Amino acid sequence: MEIPYAESFRIKMVEPLYRSTREERERWIKEAKYNLFGLKSSQVFIDLLTDSGTGAMSDRQWAAMMEGDESYAGSASYFNMKEAIKTILGFDYFLPTHQGRAAENVLFSVLVKAGDVVPGNAHFDTTKGHIEFRKASAVDCTIDEAGDTQLEHPFKGNVDLNKLETVLKAYPKEKIPFICITITCNTSGGQPVSMENIRGIAALSQKYGIPLLFDSARFAENAYFIKTREKGYENKTIKKIVREMFQYVDMMTMSSKKDAIVNIGGFIAFRSEQLFREASIYNIMFEGYITYGGMSGRDMNALATGLDEGTEFDYLDGRIRQVAYLGAKLDEYGIAYQRPAGGHAIFIDALKVLPHVPREEFPAQTLAVELYLEGGIRSTEIGAILADRDPVTRENRYPQLELLRLAIPRRTYTNSHIEVAAAALKNVYDRRDKITHGLKIVYEAPIMRHFTVEMEKN
Ligand SMILES: *Cc1c(COP(=O)(O)O)cnc(C)c1O
Repeated sequence: MEIPYAESFRIKMVEPLYRSTREERERWIKEAKYNLFGLKSSQVFIDLLTDSGTGAMSDRQWAAMMEGDESYAGSASYFNMKEAIKTILGFDYFLPTHQGRAAENVLFSVLVKAGDVVPGNAHFDTTKGHIEFRKASAVDCTIDEAGDTQLEHPFKGNVDLNKLETVLKAYPKEKIPFICITITCNTSGGQPVSMENIRGIAALSQKYGIPLLFDSARFAENAYFIKTREKGYENKTIKKIVREMFQYVDMMTMSSKKDAIVNIGGFIAFRSEQLFREASIYNIMFEGYITYGGMSGRDMNALATGLDEGTEFDYLDGRIRQVAYLGAKLDEYGIAYQRPAGGHAIFIDALKVLPHVPREEFPAQTLAVELYLEGGIRSTEIGAILADRDPVTRENRYPQLELLRLAIPRRTYTNSHIEVAAAALKNVYDRRDKITHGLKIVYEAPIMRHFTVEMEKN
């Protein structure tokens, strides 16, 4: 018989999980004001809230931690990180930051001013937050296909080049500080951007003289999809594909909590020495000296090692197969999700799963609460709550898609956990006709409200 696939790692350290009762969960979620960010981790059985900083490090990474150099300036760990960024991503200049949004804060402090426009493919929430906080706006130029969850398209993270060019033509050059491309694109479902599309975006960036930025948290997963889906890349290594992807861009921001498989960390990388110097000023003010930027030496060491491991095909293959396994289970149960399965998560189409909950009552958040009650599974809403209110009209924004994200932490759960999550979702789906009421907001912050929002059952 054909030998089935298995991951190329084994488990060296384990952490116990508490299996709660439904009565306990009913009490806890009410105390958390129906916001899953408000739960204690001990109240969660399988935590699919995020894949950010929640992965398991390797023995090699832990060994690198022990060798961390904690010197304030010029530590050996900084140079390890510099070397990894140069060889894997190809940038000469970089600044460490404590995580991805800090990289955005530092870089955008230099580049973004009030009235500016930043086109891209469905900007990440913190990216959009840092743009809007500076009274600039993010323009989404994603291809229309990404809005149809049931349509199979290999690169739903792609930019519609016509939409992008329309924006580039509509504003004077000084108003567009850069084009921001998220690889893979979380907001449209962990969907990749093809190399062909990257080349097309780069050509427009050249034509209009607008710099190109990669928001790179999941760049390695993007490279995996290029290798497995795009003609001409089948026989190239992930590392080779990664080098080509980054060759087209001027700068990158990175949340290392994703594809560098560390629990904390980030950085900005540049080609321009001038920009590096300008950003250094803000890095020193907000993050720390330029050779640590809010990270300890041991964390920089783990990050350097993680960049190397995270760009190995065997690791990525196991990772993305696990996400696809969850997708296959949902296919079996007839539950709609953004197709095909993404790189780091499955995004359930909440409007199809809970058709009786009105949009003003937040169907994806309602589904998140139901899934928690059913199986102690923590997931996250990618819908109207996350979209925040319109900064001008203060009305709720209803994005085209109302999704529930089940993010899979790297090297953390087994496929049995995935089966539990899928079965819990099936049970909720089977009683969908009885779920007709959603939630209403009783407290919200003016920006990035999803983290601290408080709700009641409607
Ligand atoms: C996570 C993420 C960020 C923000 O990074 P943090 O480390 O959470 O601050 C920005 N962009 C993308 C695409 C991300 O996935």
